[in-house]
Amino acid sequence: MSFYRIYRPKVLDEIDNATVRHTVELLLTKPKTELPHAYLLVGPRGTGKTTTARVIAKLFNCEHPTKSGAPCGSCGPCKAIAGGRHLDVMEIDAASNTGVDNIRDLRDRVALAPAQAVWKIYIIDEVHMLSTGAFNALLKTLEEPPTHAIFILATTDPQKIPATVVSRCQVVSFGKAQAPDITHALERIIAQEKMKIDADALSLIVDSADGSFRDAVKNLEQISFHKGTITVDVVRSNLGIGAHTARDTFLANILAHDTNAALGNVQNAVKEGIDIKVFLVDCLRELEHRLVDHVITKNTAGTIHLRTLIECFSDAYSQLRTSPIPELPLELAVVEYCEQKNEKISPIINTPLSVIPGLLRPSEASSEGGIRNPVPKLLDPDPLRRSEASSLAGMTKKEPSSEPISTETLGLITREKLIEHWKDVIDELKPFNHSVAGVMRSTRPKEVVDGIVTIEAFYKFHQEKLSEVKTREVIAGVLKKLFGEKVRVEVVLGKK
Ligand SMILES: [Zn+2]
Repeated sequence: MSFYRIYRPKVLDEIDNATVRHTVELLLTKPKTELPHAYLLVGPRGTGKTTTARVIAKLFNCEHPTKSGAPCGSCGPCKAIAGGRHLDVMEIDAASNTGVDNIRDLRDRVALAPAQAVWKIYIIDEVHMLSTGAFNALLKTLEEPPTHAIFILATTDPQKIPATVVSRCQVVSFGKAQAPDITHALERIIAQEKMKIDADALSLIVDSADGSFRDAVKNLEQISFHKGTITVDVVRSNLGIGAHTARDTFLANILAHDTNAALGNVQNAVKEGIDIKVFLVDCLRELEHRLVDHVITKNTAGTIHLRTLIECFSDAYSQLRTSPIPELPLELAVVEYCEQKNEKISPIINTPLSVIPGLLRPSEASSEGGIRNPVPKLLDPDPLRRSEASSLAGMTKKEPSSEPISTETLGLITREKLIEHWKDVIDELKPFNHSVAGVMRSTRPKEVVDGIVTIEAFYKFHQEKLSEVKTREVIAGVLKKLFGEKVRVEVVLGKK
């Protein structure tokens, strides 16, 4: 079993997020019958929502609470809840199809008395994924909850939850975990595992986790096999935090706009097993230092370049979590930064001649000896565009086309193939984003044209969810992985 599961907080004192811990502690000060019937836990992934939901469930159903009223963590019900097998504590994943069915049943079953315990508790994860119908059913139940029922809803996306539901819940907010909270979590494990670690090494692990308890614990576990005291160097080599030289070479190449060299550095880092996330943070930190230096020395040009690069890298960082290929966001950032510079020199990029509207047919015609020469010109539906294209051709420079570049499509992805392998696509998405995979189950591939895969969703909120740029990138990444072709993904709203 992994550290994260072994050391998942089981009792109140072990909730590492101080704000959340205090909120839950406040619940102990009142008799249970006076506590709210519904809780909404809001925060990013890996911040401890499920853990806290279970602690609240224990708080209601523990047989031997402490003097302060906190759950003991060791009685039968506490253990069953920790293992997710308490008969009166139902855990529902709203992102799955069964989740929706469970909500429909919920209204009928919630009225029944608990089987063993005093309280019947529903934990609904990813609650924002519920359909409008399911939300309505839930709302009815929340409006008049049976006295024995408690609802604990958890979400990463609170804005998708109807205000009518939110207003009936006690909201508990989990921000990104703060460094002291993560340190609190790691120190607990370090003590129990009897590990020896330098303070600097511990803060390096905390820094590398980007506010996620789960990542921090995973990184600590990776180092736990080291014998003797854990130093900064041990952390660096075990977590694949590269030496400064690799980072500095990379930064020098990218700042010189040497796209190829910089991409080569990224590939080398991957080969050497360097953790891209940690590498990226290291780069950002270095850029931050340089930026401060530039500002102090009033180096305006240098400041602008660094700011642009920091923006590119920050975007890459925010996409790391959902990227199917770990190094891809960094590679895109390299290309984006280097090409921004090129665009400033000349806004005109090279687009293949054949895709410019109006150019193709006249040139085809002339190559066929002029017999059909006048025909395409007369039939041209859009003379303005054609004349624009001709004048551009005269300049021998081409304007970027707003259309996708169709010459790059390989034709490896077809609608038929997608229909046949849709389930594989969904399965492949699961590890990257469970809720997206859930939504994809109720969609179908509509068409594949000019390197654009159009997906048909049947609910507005499904379409909105899938249309998010990051989500479309993840889907495109999976399609690339499965079929070997780079495509763009669009999502439209269809009728059933
Ligand atoms: Zn207990």
